[in-house]
Amino acid sequence: MTAARSLTTVAEFFEAGLVAEEKRAEARAVAEGYTVAITPSLAALIDRDDPLDPIARQFVPDAAELVTLPEERADPIGDLAHSPVEGIVHRYPDRVLLKAVHVCPVYCRFCFRREMVGPEGLGTLSPAALDAAIAYIAERPEIWEVILTGGDPLVLSPRRLHAIMERLAEIPHVKIVRFHTRVPAVDPARVDAALIAALKASGKTTYVALHANHPREFTTDARAAIARIVDAGLVMISQTVLLKGVNDDAAVLAELMRTFVENRVKPYYLHHPDLAPGTSHFRLTLAEGRALVESLRGRVSGLCQPSYILDIPGGHGKVRADSRAVEEADDGCFRVRDFRGETHLYSPEEGGA
Ligand code: SF4
Repeated sequence: MTAARSLTTVAEFFEAGLVAEEKRAEARAVAEGYTVAITPSLAALIDRDDPLDPIARQFVPDAAELVTLPEERADPIGDLAHSPVEGIVHRYPDRVLLKAVHVCPVYCRFCFRREMVGPEGLGTLSPAALDAAIAYIAERPEIWEVILTGGDPLVLSPRRLHAIMERLAEIPHVKIVRFHTRVPAVDPARVDAALIAALKASGKTTYVALHANHPREFTTDARAAIARIVDAGLVMISQTVLLKGVNDDAAVLAELMRTFVENRVKPYYLHHPDLAPGTSHFRLTLAEGRALVESLRGRVSGLCQPSYILDIPGGHGKVRADSRAVEEADDGCFRVRDFRGETHLYSPEEGGA
């Protein structure tokens, strides 16, 4: 099987009926600042007659992206503050991100790394930079888990993925390798036997975290791709971004979480949307997010409950947004306690109210 080519220009989006003539100029202006791409399989899912289509909302450029608010940041979760060498983010003691590539098969309009991904982004690690990143991991016995993200690591060829896994296999203290990807849902044909074999390494346990935000992303082909991964012995978990106009609805969220579980993907993260530039039209408040997550309790099985996560702006790490580590303050702010015990204010402008 070969993966189909993504649509990567506003002209291609227009020809596919995804951008209306009267919105072409705005879409071009958006594309000058942020990369656009959608795979043919996702484009086929979009109802051209529905102006509120939740798949289109995730991938079709929108004039709202031209509005950047003062509180929005190029690096909303503070990757750069925790990057000791190129390609590594070391925020927590026992795990690192390894960002080998900054390319994706689709470009999500809400992406928290939108200033880093795409052809104009941080690119693919050079062989020398990859050597340095692997050496950093090898020299630190406290690193138990390596999380390949980017970008979408599953755009790399099986040969390159295998080469990375071989290098990690030589590091005894690394026990877990986790891949964060949208590929099984957005480009399922790419998930073939060679790719799956490349995700395995002797002595390591591989997790594949599938990013999906709406139950319609689970097409027949996507379900089959997921089944190929799970049948091969890899563990799958989910990640979803809570997005206004896509899944900010109790019934949609419940169906999405059930769909993950039915496909042997354990719900893991439900991310509160980050303060990425030009994404305010996607953001709920923390209070709205908490109410939605609360509505899942009791409504769906415990198997279907994700952790609702806020990445504290500025690089202070993740916190459970529905836990006592996030408390309402009198002034419309939330007081947020990070994993080190330090407290930060999350203001109404940031989505606190
Ligand atoms: S796949 Fe992930 S890294 Fe790529 S654009 Fe979407 S959110 Fe960003």
